[in-house]
Parts: sequence; C-alpha cells; structure tokens
Amino acid sequence: MDIQPKKKSLPHVLIFPCPAQGHVNPMLKLAELLAIQNIYITFLNTKYIHNRLIQFNDDIQALLECYPKLQFKTISDFHSEEKHPGFGEKVGDVILSLSLYGKPLLKDIIVSEKISCIILDGIFGDLATDLAAEFGIQLIHFRTISACCFWAYLSVPKLLECNELPIKGDEDMDRIIRNVPGMENLLRCRDLPSFRKMDDSDTILDKAALLTQQSLKGNALILNTFENLESPALSQIRLHAPKLYTIGPLHHHLNTTKKTSSSSSSSSKSNFFEVDRTCMTWLESQPLKSVVYVSFGSITPMKGEEIIEIWHGLLNSKKPFLWVIRPNMVQEKGLLKELEEGTTKEKGMIVGWVPQEEVLSHKAIGAFLTHSGWNSTLESVVCGVPMICWPYFADQQINSRFVSDVWKLGLDMKDVCDRKVVENMVNDVMVNRKEEFVRSAMDIAKLASKSVSPGGSSYNNFQDLIQYIRSTSP
Ligand code: UDP
Repeated sequence: MDIQPKKKSLPHVLIFPCPAQGHVNPMLKLAELLAIQNIYITFLNTKYIHNRLIQFNDDIQALLECYPKLQFKTISDFHSEEKHPGFGEKVGDVILSLSLYGKPLLKDIIVSEKISCIILDGIFGDLATDLAAEFGIQLIHFRTISACCFWAYLSVPKLLECNELPIKGDEDMDRIIRNVPGMENLLRCRDLPSFRKMDDSDTILDKAALLTQQSLKGNALILNTFENLESPALSQIRLHAPKLYTIGPLHHHLNTTKKTSSSSSSSSKSNFFEVDRTCMTWLESQPLKSVVYVSFGSITPMKGEEIIEIWHGLLNSKKPFLWVIRPNMVQEKGLLKELEEGTTKEKGMIVGWVPQEEVLSHKAIGAFLTHSGWNSTLESVVCGVPMICWPYFADQQINSRFVSDVWKLGLDMKDVCDRKVVENMVNDVMVNRKEEFVRSAMDIAKLASKSVSPGGSSYNNFQDLIQYIRSTSP
C-alpha cells in the first residue's frame, strides 16, 4: 500500500494591528503584500476602526475583490460607541481593554478560521503567546516603531542599572546617555523615547520597555525599516531576536511590487478621516519644491499657543505651507477660524486630512514639518523630502534625533515651540542649508528604493518571511 505524504494545508495568517492610524496603515500594506503572494489573510480590526475604514476609503471593497484570499473580520473593543476613547491620545484605554479581555475573541477566530500563523502588533504584549502555544501555531510580532527606538526600549533595564535613568528633571535633559550600545554619545536624555509630554511619570516608559521584551517572545519579529537605514541598531536587536525580518518601508515595498507586477490597482488606503483632495489642486499651482508640508500625525494634541507659534513661524518664513489640522485638534473656539481666515491662498492652505503619501511625492513639496511618527518619517525618506522635527511622544524623540544627527535629513526643534525657531529652521532647510539636506535625502531615498527592489534587503527578507510562513504551516 502506498503511503501518501501528508499534504500541507495552505497557510492562513491572522493580522491584528493596534486600533491606531500609524499601526493599521503599515499592517494593511503587509496584508496586501502577503495577499499578492496568494496567502490567506484575515485582517482583524475593532468594529470602531472598521466602520471608519468603510466610511472613509472607497476602495476597501475593491481590495477584497482583487484578493479573494483576503478578508476583514471585526471584534469588540469593549467600549461603547457613545463613550469611546477614540484612536487619539486615549487609544491606550482601548489597547488595555483588548490586552485584558481580547484573548477569548482571538481564540474564536483562530479556531473558526483555522489560523496557522498570527502576526500580532507587538503593542499587545503577550496577548497571543499562550494561544499560539495552545494551538501549535507561529506567532510573529510586528512593531511599528523604528529599530533605533526598539533598541532603546530594550536598553531601558541597563540604563536603570547604570543610573542613567530615571531622568532627574528638566535640568537633566542635555545629559549624554552612554549605555545604549551602538548609540554612544549620540543621545541626550531628551532624545530617549518619552511619554513626558502626555504623562509626567516614567511608568509608561517602563511599560513600553516591558512590551518590547515581550516582542522577543514570539517565533519571529518584523520591523518596518530597512537594513541600510538602521544597521547598527538592527545588529544589536539581532543578538536578542535572531529571526528578525526587516521588510520596509512597507508602503514603498507594496507600491514597488505592484509596479513591477504591472498591477493596475492602487495600493490599499486606510484613512480614519475624510480626505480633503482640494490640496492637490492647490499644490499644482505652487512652484517646484516651494511648499512646507506640515502635519503632526493622527495622535499629537496641540495647545492653542503652540499652534499660534507654528503659524506665525510659517508666515514669517514667507514660504507657502500646507498644514493638516485634524478635526477636533484645536480645542480653543474660534482659533481654527482665525487661522483659516489669516491664511490666504498665497500664504498657504489648512486642511483636515490629506493623502499624505501623494502630498509628499508632489514636486511642489520642499520640506516636511513633522512630529516624526515612524510612518511619516519613512514616507518622507522615500520621497527624499528634508524634515523639520517637532516630536510629541514614544519613538518620535529618538526618530527626530536620528533625522538630524545621524541621517542628516533636516533639523530637530525637539522641545522648543517658538515662532523664531520655526522661521529660522524653515529657512535653513528650504534655503540656507538646502543643498546638504537635499543631497542626503536623495541618497537615502535611493537606498530605500534599492532595498525594496528585486535583490534588495527588504525584498529578500520578505521572500524569506513568506518561505518561513509557508514552511511552518501545519
Ligand atoms: N496621514 C495621512 N494624512 C494626513 C496625516 C497623516 O494619510 O493628513 C498618515 C500618514 O501618511 C501616516 C499616518 O497617517 O501613514 C501617521 O502615522 P505616523 O506613524 O507618522 O504618526 P501617528 O499618527 O502614529 O502619530
């Protein structure tokens, strides 16, 4: 009697991002990249986020039609629609409730969909560790932060041991940190990943450091970066996580893959806000590399006085600007109206939400005033746009340090918000030191493109990741 070898079942990957814009964006790009490779994908969102995706992205249905093996599923996040914390500054409440109560919901999906591999947002800590063991399936953690931040988080216990942490107040901010291997003499206290603008205590930093330790406990780790950009940090991380796949910048990886396969469909969009496309027409009317694009991402809150400083700095620089001020970002009644009325079409444009990748790749954009969120940083890197950084929290403090002092892609305002500084930095990046920043930006943009093209590091690592997912499916 012939004994047939047991047929391997097709892998089915469950992807579960944290319900925040900067997490859903890159993880949906990864989902699409895997779907192109004919892998079954269940993309899991909270109901609250899924409703927004449906509301603000016309092409979600087309995406499902394009990839029959891709499906969306939703779960509750344990918050009522009326009292929902949202996906901004209070998204931590949603992460907490999912981390505490989400396990049975994940288990149901693993069983009903016959999941063979979980790609879990590492911000959920050990949410799926027991489940993966129980079902004998692979667990891959995906972190949406930069590798330099990941490595700084991993170094927190050592910094505490060496008394380099905690930071002793405002007067301690310029002290140099010496015990993050690979970054000696680069980081000041103020450049460490930080939550001090949203919370005075160090407890969140401890928590973020712990989550990062937990990210090492999966079978593999994915980072949205590329080897040439962060190789010293990556070498350090690999000592703790040998199965590390760097496959970014994911948005560029997806666009390049689609271009080389001459796919006619555009890449998936996952806006949480209504996109205002009128800015694209306005950009068309602006001279080459003349506009400062200003956006502080989806979470950063702003005080009225900070908005006013930035606005005056931009006006005084005499460079036209395109500024994203999200709905509800300005609490002060009348301030937004005042800004809009004072911003004539010649001076600039204020909008609620833009198609950022498209904006950054527009020929009229000369610089990006950014909060240094990791997605925004990568999107700017890919387009070769120099940056002026005003970080708010988490990895943004260290990302902005790397932008200014390692990659030399621009300037870091860091903890200062002053109209004169804004004006001077805009002029330095757009005029006085333009050439040096544009040169580095172009060089790094080329490296980014090379990494996601056939034979490049992110391209090869992605092939290895697919191979790994296929070979470990039961
Ligand atoms: N974004 C966008 N339109 C906007 C502002 C932001 O599409 O008007 C996108 C941006 O392209 C990026 C994401 O929102 O992919 C923000 O992520 P990031 O990591 O930069 O910052 P976060 O929102 O997590 O602070």
